[in-house]
Amino acid sequence: MPTYQTTGIVIGRTNFGEADRIIRFLTADHGKVSAVAKGVRRIKSRTAGHLELFGEASLTLATGRNLDVVTAARLSWYPHQLIAAYDRIGLAYAMAAAVDRLTEPGHPQPKLYALLSEALHAVDGGATGALVELWFKLRFLEVQGYRPDLTACVICGRHDQDAQYFFDAARGGIVCQNDSSSTSRPLSQPAIKLWRLLSDYPYVTVAQIADGPALATATLLSCDEFYEHHLGRSFKPGLVT
Ligand SMILES: [Zn+2]
Repeated sequence: MPTYQTTGIVIGRTNFGEADRIIRFLTADHGKVSAVAKGVRRIKSRTAGHLELFGEASLTLATGRNLDVVTAARLSWYPHQLIAAYDRIGLAYAMAAAVDRLTEPGHPQPKLYALLSEALHAVDGGATGALVELWFKLRFLEVQGYRPDLTACVICGRHDQDAQYFFDAARGGIVCQNDSSSTSRPLSQPAIKLWRLLSDYPYVTVAQIADGPALATATLLSCDEFYEHHLGRSFKPGLVT
């Protein structure tokens, strides 16, 4: 079988046969890759410790007829600080599950790979709560091609620093008071600014914003509505094994 080399982050694992496991990786150059790790559930397996969920590994994969096969794996990074932090593990699960569900195999995903890597480093480093969750969702939406329109009213184009704006998930952005409807939620000017920064900047940068956590807590629900409207799935910590 021909082989190829890549680097992947483990985003999901499913037991297969008696001692095997199908591992789903996100890679930059091949997108999502599913590959069989043979004998990985045996106690003496030499590769098991290199294929942990959320870990990043250098891989040699053999191209199979149906599924690729892991022929070598070497762990290069693992979020060790996450082990005892249940709130942050839940967030990491939700991030990996979102990437797993919404990524098709066979398309290069360099931006998504960079985002997931950055997000896992952030939660491993202690990031928790609404700010990092809102940041991940807005960045993830951006990578998937769904950026909320936050520059002017999406209906009339009104752009006014002092006006009261609302966020309308179904219309894809902010609307002015006149164009707001029963489904629009208020989005303050500071919150609009925060959302713009979150859509564009790395987490280490936005983590410095003093009122970021409070603004994120107040507006996370609006982002959730937008996320579900466009991606058709809610973002919930689900158990991934
Ligand atoms: Zn308007």
